[in-house]
Amino acid sequence: MSSTVGQVIRCKAAVAWEPGKPLVIEEVEVAPPQTMEVRLKILFTSLCHTDVYFWEAKGQTPLFPRIFGHEAGGIVESVGEGVTDLKPGDHVLPVFTGECKECRHCKSQESNMCDLLRINTDRGVMLNDGKSRFSINGQPIYHFVGTSTFSEYTVVHVGCVAKINPAAPLDKVCVLSCGISTGLGATLNVAKPKKGSSVAIFGLGAVGLAAAEGARIAGASRIIGVDLNPKRFDEAKKFGVTEFVNPKDYDKPVQEVIAEMTGGGVDRSVECTGSINAMVSAFECVHDGWGVAVLVGVPNKDDAFKTHPMNLLNERTLRGTFFGNYKPRSDLPSVVEKYMNKELELEKFITHEVPFSEINKAFEYMLRGDGLRCIIRMDA
Ligand code: NAD
Ligand code: ZN
Repeated sequence: MSSTVGQVIRCKAAVAWEPGKPLVIEEVEVAPPQTMEVRLKILFTSLCHTDVYFWEAKGQTPLFPRIFGHEAGGIVESVGEGVTDLKPGDHVLPVFTGECKECRHCKSQESNMCDLLRINTDRGVMLNDGKSRFSINGQPIYHFVGTSTFSEYTVVHVGCVAKINPAAPLDKVCVLSCGISTGLGATLNVAKPKKGSSVAIFGLGAVGLAAAEGARIAGASRIIGVDLNPKRFDEAKKFGVTEFVNPKDYDKPVQEVIAEMTGGGVDRSVECTGSINAMVSAFECVHDGWGVAVLVGVPNKDDAFKTHPMNLLNERTLRGTFFGNYKPRSDLPSVVEKYMNKELELEKFITHEVPFSEINKAFEYMLRGDGLRCIIRMDA
């Protein structure tokens, strides 16, 4: 047994003290896991737009100081009471939304919105006792979406941890812990395009390109990428996107442009931007009679979705999803296997890598729209 079991661990974590200000690498204390919790040693983490968005405090409640990070891979260091299906040494991916396996949602075939552990961006403490496991000289530091992976060690509820094949390289499969599974699942599990159909993808970041990858795997014949940033189009060619539309190039709404390109609208659309305008366009650009639009982007707190109800009466479907409808513990190991079997390529999503000490560079890349995913190596 490791000598750290049951002890407070002192390690490095990147602390966000204030909204929008560079993270500061601090020595933090990480308490041992309590009942139904596990303590993880994080080896690799990557930056997702959702971290940036809450760091900028565009989301609901700005809780600071806070340790962000939710896309990561690591190893179980120790487990709390009641944890039976994980043990020290297991290779895992923490996930921002959980699966208790007991509630109505977890028992339903259709839902991944676990009653106990579904995403909660307002909570900065553990469910067990309403306290944080992180502190600096006695001052608590808040958690983020139950994962807080910008730390060498973190404490996570067991229901937010997927045990994966130990042969899977964590520096690659860590990106499956959020963005890539989210985009892939939004297409494969929710939009479900038929072979030969047309799919529009709004937002060609990592999530959108994973949605495009899903459309390619499903056999879509036209994949139309929509983005305001023309730099995205070169990258997107590697992901099977067949046509590009920049809304800025037109003086009419992009949904009209897409309707003209496709003889009335696309069969499916997946929105991966977080922009309310893109959400409405993604819905209104699907064909009447059968079109399905899926929202994935996280909106601003005061956004409201406005469309004429006739757009729905005309038999268009609007859906939304977290984590691509995957149940983290039950389904994520099989997504990792898709990578291991070479059905899914992850390397092309990884455009940058930085040592932990330079984590702020990952934020700069994301804010500039430069590249897709930046891997942060915790041991460097
Ligand atoms: P990203 O910033 O890398 O990519 C977003 C892309 O959208 C950018 O290329 C940007 O130029 C483009 N964009 C912005 N506004 C647009 C508009 N009006 N029209 C067209 N394109 C526009 O972000 P990402 O990491 O790929 O994440 C995408 C979104 O998905 C974010 O909102 C993120 O918070 C959300 N997300 C949701 C879930 C979920 O489970 N629902 C999970 C992960 C991420
Ligand atoms: Zn549940």
